[in-house]
Amino acid sequence: MKLAKRVSTLTPSSTLAITAKAKELKEQGHDVIGLGAGEPDFNTPQYIIDAAVRSMEEGHTKYTPSAGLPKLKEAIIGKFKQDQGITYTPAEIIVGSGAKHILYTLFQAILDEGDEVIIPTPYWVSYPEQVKLADGEPVYIEGLEANGFKVTAEQLESAINEKTKAFILNSPSNPTGAMYTDEELRELGEVCIKHDVLIVSDEIYEKLVYEGATHTSVAELSPELKAQTIVVNGVSKSHSMTGWRIGYAAGNAEIIKAMTNLASHSTSNPTTTAQYGTIAAYTVDDGSVETMRAAFEERLNGIFEKLVSIPGVTCVKPKGAFYLFPNVSEAVKLNGYDNVDAWVEAILEEEKVALVPGSGFGAPDNVRLSYATSFEALEEALTRVERFVRAKL
Ligand code: PLP
Repeated sequence: MKLAKRVSTLTPSSTLAITAKAKELKEQGHDVIGLGAGEPDFNTPQYIIDAAVRSMEEGHTKYTPSAGLPKLKEAIIGKFKQDQGITYTPAEIIVGSGAKHILYTLFQAILDEGDEVIIPTPYWVSYPEQVKLADGEPVYIEGLEANGFKVTAEQLESAINEKTKAFILNSPSNPTGAMYTDEELRELGEVCIKHDVLIVSDEIYEKLVYEGATHTSVAELSPELKAQTIVVNGVSKSHSMTGWRIGYAAGNAEIIKAMTNLASHSTSNPTTTAQYGTIAAYTVDDGSVETMRAAFEERLNGIFEKLVSIPGVTCVKPKGAFYLFPNVSEAVKLNGYDNVDAWVEAILEEEKVALVPGSGFGAPDNVRLSYATSFEALEEALTRVERFVRAKL
């Protein structure tokens, strides 16, 4: 069977190979510590589960409108009012099956063949693939490590041409944990307004910010920036609801309507029960979002010094999300490996710790490790990595 061109050029997720290898070693009885997780290790707060169960018992087990339940849209509008101080109408909101599918639908709705989307590196692995699946062209600008993995307005402006359709902002970032300041957001946003480039602002890690930082959405900085931006968000990371598959977009009603038409022929609607759970997530606050955030911050602070004390390892301290993205190029050289991928494979083989090579995120000198796992496991993993590095100096 000859498969479609569109799938033959897809790059498999970079986490997959290492996860498969880690699983194989685990099945052979090895004590493997996986630091590849992209999801919180907590269970979903009980009040959300209760609301979802109740909805099913009350008979809410049928299709909903394609863009989501009106009550859920109201809850999302309330969340934007409270957190960002901005007001959307229901026609400016679509709820979908996770932020990932919302982004997929968005690119399908806005891109024609050859349209360019500017993606800062290091990037979340799905952005380039989703752009390509919509016949678009990813254009990369480098978020320099020396600039905290952030891109500048000058870099953005020099990458824009008549084919540029959108610019992806992801603050806090996966994989680096970098966060843009209000001033930086404003500067980037002004460039997008000047050249009429749509800002796709992926704010999925909004609630996971540290050291007293507060998250700012580029859309809240001015009415013009709000009009220029599609905000993408969801409950996966904030409420530990990755398996529920609820995400949403807010912005220009014409784009939202096009996305809704697409959804009506693909998913019909996001799972009804999960929508009811999300209404509870956004209308009740039992403190668990903050408890989970504080736990991540404690882990980050508990392991950061140990990580950067490993010879040849440096790391920009993340400001949000739940990943560390150290530069390990010096350690790789000291240990005699040709590249980070080979070094990561050897660590898994010899010390049974699964890290994710940065190559899949457009940053071949780095590795990603997730601290969405227990403190004990994190400490043990770093002890093993340090032992590996020191043994081969
Ligand atoms: N955006 C970023 C940057 C992510 O890291 C993820 C999940 O890993 C998503 C979007 C998708 O989240 P979900 O589809 O679970 O809502």
